Amino acid sequence: MNRNWHGAVLRRLLLLVSACLLVGLVTGEYAWALVIGLAGHLGWTLSQLLRLHKWLQEHKPDEPPPDGYGMWGEVFDSIYHLQRRDQKVRGRLQAVIDRVQESTAALKDAVIMLDSQGNLDWWNIAAETLLGLKTPQDSGQPITNLVRDPRFKEYFESNNFHDPLDLPSPLTDRRRLQIQITRYGNHEHLLLVRDVTRLYQLEQMRKDFVANVSHELRTPLTVIAGYLETMLDNVEAVNPRWTRALKQMQEQGGRMQNLLNDLLLLAKLEATDYPSDNHPVDIELMLQSIKSDAQALSGEQKHQITLQVEPQLKLKGSEAELRSAFSNLVFNAVKYTPGQGQIHIRWWGDASGAHLSVQDTGPGIEAKHLPRLTERFYRVDSSRASSTGGTGLGLAIVKHVLLRHRALLDIKSTQGQGSTFTCNFPPMQVVRPRP
Ligand code: ADP
Repeated sequence: MNRNWHGAVLRRLLLLVSACLLVGLVTGEYAWALVIGLAGHLGWTLSQLLRLHKWLQEHKPDEPPPDGYGMWGEVFDSIYHLQRRDQKVRGRLQAVIDRVQESTAALKDAVIMLDSQGNLDWWNIAAETLLGLKTPQDSGQPITNLVRDPRFKEYFESNNFHDPLDLPSPLTDRRRLQIQITRYGNHEHLLLVRDVTRLYQLEQMRKDFVANVSHELRTPLTVIAGYLETMLDNVEAVNPRWTRALKQMQEQGGRMQNLLNDLLLLAKLEATDYPSDNHPVDIELMLQSIKSDAQALSGEQKHQITLQVEPQLKLKGSEAELRSAFSNLVFNAVKYTPGQGQIHIRWWGDASGAHLSVQDTGPGIEAKHLPRLTERFYRVDSSRASSTGGTGLGLAIVKHVLLRHRALLDIKSTQGQGSTFTCNFPPMQVVRPRP
C-alpha cells in the first residue's frame, strides 16, 4: 500500500516534469517551463496543506474531511480514519471508566485517590458522607487539610500503612472510621475508609463491661480479704481445723485482687490512645528501684540480677505505665527462672531509638507460643503459671503500655537456654542528654 502510494507520487511528479519538458520543447524555454510547472505544483501543495490545517483546527467530531485531490485526498482520508479509530478506542475506555466509577460510587466504603503530593484527585460519593469532602471545591486540596486529626497526619506522613488507622469521623464524633492506605503507581495513594461504628461500639461495650465488673468486685473482695486477715491475725481464737482453709482463702483472695487490679489497669490503658503525661522519665532511677524489688521477690532463690544502663538516656511518657511494664518483664524473669539463675537488665540507645532488654537463663519458651504470649490470659503452661501466682495479664499490659509509647515488644527465646524480652522505643520518644 505504502509502496503504491510512493509510486503514485513519483509517477505524478514525472508526469509534471514530462509535461513541462514538452512545453519547453514547443516553446524552446525549458528552464521557464520547468520553473513555472514546479512553482504551480508547490502552490497547489501549499493550498492543500492549508486546507488540511484549517480542517484539523476547526472540524467538529464526526465531520468528514474536505475532498482532497490526488495524494492529498489520501492524506485527508488516512487522518480521518485514524481519528475515527482513536475515538472508538476512547469510547471503549470511557465506558470502562464509567463502569468502574459507577460501581465505586455504589460502594458504602469511601474510595479516595490522591496524587503523589497527597492532594485529592478523585473520590466516590461515600467519601462525601463519611469524610465530608465537597465536589468540586476540594479537588486538588491536600488530604491533611481536610482530615485534620493529628493522628491521621502522623499516620499519613509515617508512610507505614501496614495496619489501618481508627479515627472519629471529622463530621461527627459518634461515627468511627477505619482508614487503610495503599500506595500505587507513581507514589500515588489510594485511601479506603470504612464505617466501623458498630464494631467500635461493641468493643467499647466489652471494655466497659470488664471495667465495671472489675470495679464492682473490688469492694466485696476487699471486705472478705479484710475479715480473713483479722481472723488470721487472731489465729488462736479460730478452730485449728480452719487455719489451713483460711490461709488458702487469703492466698486465693490475694490472687483475685491482683487479677482485678490488672484488669482495671488494662481497662484504663485501653480507654485512651496516648498516655496523659509525656514528661522525660528517668529510666536509670526506675530500673534501680525495680532491680531492688526483684531482688526482694527473689528472696531465698538468690537470682543474680545485673543492671547495665546508659546514663541520662530518658524516655518521654508516663512514669507509672513504664514502671508497670518494665517491672512485669523483670518480675516474670524472676518468677520463671529457677533459683541462682541470671537475669540481665540492659537499657541503651542507638540510631534506631532506645531499648530495654530483660534477659534470663530460665526454661525458655517454645517458638509456637511466642506470637500468642501477649494475649490476655495466655499461658505457656497453666499448671506452672498457677504456682507462680501470675494473672496471665502481665504481658498484655506490657504490650499496651508499649503501644501507647509507640514502642514494640520483641521476644526471643531458646528452650532450655532462656528468654530475652526487648522493648524497642522509636527515636521520637527518646530524650538524650545535651552534648
Ligand atoms: P503471668 O501472669 O502468667 O506471668 P504473663 O502475661 O506475664 O502472665 O506471661 C504469660 C506467659 O508467658 C507466662 O504464663 C509464662 O508461661 C510465659 N513467660 C513470661 N515471661 C517468661 C520468662 N521470662 N520465661 C519463661 N516464660 C515466660
